[in-house]
Amino acid sequence: MNFFSTNKQSVKATFREAVLNGQPSDKGLYFPEIIPAIPPDFWRDFKKKTKAQIAFEVIKPYVGDDIPDEIVLQICAETVNFDFPLVKITENISTLELFHGATLAFKDVGARFMSRCLQYFSREKSEKTIVIAATSGDTGGAVANGFFDVEGVEVVILYPQGKVSRVQELQLTTLGKNISALEVNGTFDDCQTLAKTALADEDLKRKVFLTSANSINVARWLPQQFYYFYALQRWEDDENAPVISVPSGNFGNVCAGILAHVSGLPVSKFIAATNANDVIPNFFQRGKMEIKSSIATLSNAMDVGNPSNFVRILEIFDNDFINLKEKLEALSVSDEITAQTMREVFEKYNYILDPHGAVGFYALENYLHKNPDKKGFFLETAHPIKFDSVENITGTCGAIPEAIEDLFSRPKQSVKIRANYEDLREILLQKI
Ligand SMILES: *Cc1c(COP(=O)(O)O)cnc(C)c1O
Repeated sequence: MNFFSTNKQSVKATFREAVLNGQPSDKGLYFPEIIPAIPPDFWRDFKKKTKAQIAFEVIKPYVGDDIPDEIVLQICAETVNFDFPLVKITENISTLELFHGATLAFKDVGARFMSRCLQYFSREKSEKTIVIAATSGDTGGAVANGFFDVEGVEVVILYPQGKVSRVQELQLTTLGKNISALEVNGTFDDCQTLAKTALADEDLKRKVFLTSANSINVARWLPQQFYYFYALQRWEDDENAPVISVPSGNFGNVCAGILAHVSGLPVSKFIAATNANDVIPNFFQRGKMEIKSSIATLSNAMDVGNPSNFVRILEIFDNDFINLKEKLEALSVSDEITAQTMREVFEKYNYILDPHGAVGFYALENYLHKNPDKKGFFLETAHPIKFDSVENITGTCGAIPEAIEDLFSRPKQSVKIRANYEDLREILLQKI
């Protein structure tokens, strides 16, 4: 499979090139030349297939021959080595829980898949690979964990001091080995600027292969299709396809769901649920895109002012706005309603939502209120324990999941740096 750039200026890339480059030189996003149709065969034993088998069949057309089949299958098995339960909350609303992986968020899937592809591709290269990632909290843990102990790859995570939750910080700083956590005296934007400066440092790049674990990388984006299939395996109403509500920030997750649907997965409607960062809901209302700077909200992993993956959604629909609106709706949910939803769902149904899931729940409930003959599920994108606000709002964040039980007893290892490229460069040079 070849990938073209959504800006249509760069040359086409193979899967391997797209993974290693991350982003085309014209600053567009990589997009598959063909959206593969799922063969009728696929559905024959669908409900009996293993998670790894489904993942393999879904991703194979995109990877092509760039990685041998048996290794792709192994990568898939290692990527989806945890549960994706579909849990009923009300008569017509279920939740697809995506937080049973190592760092308790859906980003584990993309990060695990990408790290293993990169490991495979970097074996063929002579120089060392350094992966650099800036995080506002959730991405860093998933990337650190996904790349932990991956041979030939050093990982440097930049996070803003004092601005990530307790669990998130421990997930970043307690791994050690090939993972270095840099605690930046600054904001998330400073971290991102530092990462970008490093990635543009030509002198450094002559010495080492430097890449980012950015969410726009196709190896993080494409595997997010997998769990939409797992949900449909468990969907009991064969006559009526589900409405799926996706808490959205950068719109990568919902875009992967739409891609799966265009390939043949039955879905009645997608709802992109955003917080107060409402660029896309506004676009749906007015037909005009007005980029804003991001606002801080309770669901902070979705505080995105300029959702980068939306261009991929436009590409899927060939920029046909009418078609797009038939398949996708968008709703912005305020912090006040998010907190109220968290309280209500706990009181009525004894289910603890995290702020991101709450945004998804509310948007789905709102849609089903207007379409009472439909049923659906929302994605619970992270475990409530990851967000310090949950305890304040709900009064509890539930039991501590097994995956992080021993996190609290491990020592924190981080290096404090100024928001200054010289500090970062020195550390990177030591890793070569
Ligand atoms: C990253 C993240 C999101 C947003 O996903 P996008 O693909 O950027 O739309 C939602 N919820 C949680 C918990 C996240 O970490």
